[in-house]
Amino acid sequence: MPLVKATAIVLRSRKWGEADRIVTCYAKTLGKIRGVARGARRQKSRFGAALEPFTVCRLDLFEKTGDSLFRISHVDVLSSLHVLREDLGLMAAAARMVNVVAAVTPDGDPDPVLFETLEQGLASLSQSGDPACTALLFQIKLLGLTGFRPQTDHCAACGKTRMAGAPHFSPLAGGLVCMPCAARQHTRCVVLSQGSLAFLQQAIRLAPSLVTRLRATGRVRDEVEEAIERYVTVVAGRRLPPADFLLRAPQPVQAVFVPAGGRA
Ligand SMILES: [Zn+2]
Repeated sequence: MPLVKATAIVLRSRKWGEADRIVTCYAKTLGKIRGVARGARRQKSRFGAALEPFTVCRLDLFEKTGDSLFRISHVDVLSSLHVLREDLGLMAAAARMVNVVAAVTPDGDPDPVLFETLEQGLASLSQSGDPACTALLFQIKLLGLTGFRPQTDHCAACGKTRMAGAPHFSPLAGGLVCMPCAARQHTRCVVLSQGSLAFLQQAIRLAPSLVTRLRATGRVRDEVEEAIERYVTVVAGRRLPPADFLLRAPQPVQAVFVPAGGRA
């Protein structure tokens, strides 16, 4: 079993067996990986809180031939980003970013730029006055890095470069579509204002270090959020919790009638 050292960001961590944890990370040189941390849930575990989501860490891993699950033997925390776990708005936005990475990246396919973009995104969240907007901008960047860059230069369905009328964003086609293609889409397109289109194009173009300078409110924010939300759902194959899910009012619990001896 060879020892592998990797710098990684913890995407998620869940209980496993009696006292262990299975951790999904994005490692700079290994891509998305899963590892088991034996005894991580014991009170005096050597891992402590080092495997909490959003933590940037240095891992010692053992790789077993024929097994995709690494064994995590040691963790050094490089940046705990604990501030992201102390505020519901920050936590939800950070969760959205790591969920998108977990959902759209294949296993074991490293992209150091994606790693740095996620690292930068989480760090800028900690200083953001509008976490949901920061998460939105970084989702656009992350989609671009994983081969799902929203297409805004030509029709994403037929390739036509001259598109008349209001811009229509098709979540299924992954970008703007011309009017005839919009009419043929199986799901409703999001109609974008020129301001929303300009915001989306800037978010795609700007470097991660500059993208947080963009601001969106009102109609632009609503339209771009809807377009990206629906596009991410298509790419991920399922709905992910939104960037503000912890701040939303709790839904009333629905009473479920369970007949005697039956199942709800
Ligand atoms: Zn078209």
